[in-house]
Amino acid sequence: MDPAKRASLGARSDVREEIRSDARLEEQVKDWLRYGEDLGLAPYYRDRPPLHAIAEAAESLNVARSVATSSAISAASAATPASVSVTIPAAIPAAMAAAATGRAPNAPINLAASASQKSPAAPMSTILVAANAPSLFEAIERIEGDSLPRIRDDIGDCTRCKLHKGRTKIVFGIGNPNADLMFVGEGPGRDEDLSGEPFVGRAGKLLTDMIKAMGLQREDVYIANVVKCRPPENRLPEKDEITTCSSFLMRQIDTIKPKVICTLGSCSAQTLLQTAQGISKLRGEWFDFRGTKLMPTYHPAYLLRNPAAKPEVWKDLQKVMAVLGLQPKKR
Ligand code: SF4
Repeated sequence: MDPAKRASLGARSDVREEIRSDARLEEQVKDWLRYGEDLGLAPYYRDRPPLHAIAEAAESLNVARSVATSSAISAASAATPASVSVTIPAAIPAAMAAAATGRAPNAPINLAASASQKSPAAPMSTILVAANAPSLFEAIERIEGDSLPRIRDDIGDCTRCKLHKGRTKIVFGIGNPNADLMFVGEGPGRDEDLSGEPFVGRAGKLLTDMIKAMGLQREDVYIANVVKCRPPENRLPEKDEITTCSSFLMRQIDTIKPKVICTLGSCSAQTLLQTAQGISKLRGEWFDFRGTKLMPTYHPAYLLRNPAAKPEVWKDLQKVMAVLGLQPKKR
């Protein structure tokens, strides 16, 4: 073939390959934008302050940092019957700054590895005590040598409450038995009842996406519910069912010993905090649960019905990430 003609054909082939590569890149960018939209992150990235302002805010908060001892928490709790505020350190601006620099998801961060790293600088945050009466769980003794398999064995083919009548499978819980982060929902839905695994339906998919956005994998965290059997017609668990079943959840928490519990929806927050306050009042605030930090946020099923609430949940998760020293997922 004429060398000039061969060179011309080669150049055209290069151009075609370049166009294909651009199209692939465009698809990847669109995928990423859709992913961010699904999680409701767009307002955060669009409306965030400039990076230098975030860094300056972090600096000034570090200067003002104060640490409260647990005795201060107890003293404040004893002194004030309603909700009490006590300052404790947390690390929000560092994660905010990291979130602001995040562009595209990359390799996820391992929770265990992250937890062993030094946490970012800690500005002030507030921890609240929701109930003035002793928690239902305060009186529950920790069982020496307890384990997840033993708890599952104790549940057995449980008929302790009326929820057993309609269940297909007991949904015990799943995830890392040494997790630093534990999510607690209210109870299994239809998909969970059939599979025996919590959060596997559409809401579960959204929870998995939320976990990934935090720089984790689903296997890094532990996921459980207040009740282990599906309430009929997906109704909320009733008080007697919660009282009967929640001792198993308590043992799961005591065994896993997470650094942070993130409750999903009103039922789990109200159960663990022993309060009647609604989730819209509780979410976004740190609470103390038997010495463990607890962050209530909306249930993913609520987010499926109300996508506009996703940015609020992302803010709550950022607070959790800050305490655990996590960085958001990058691409
Ligand atoms: Fe037992 Fe809990 Fe199921 Fe009730 S919900 S039957 S207490 S495992």
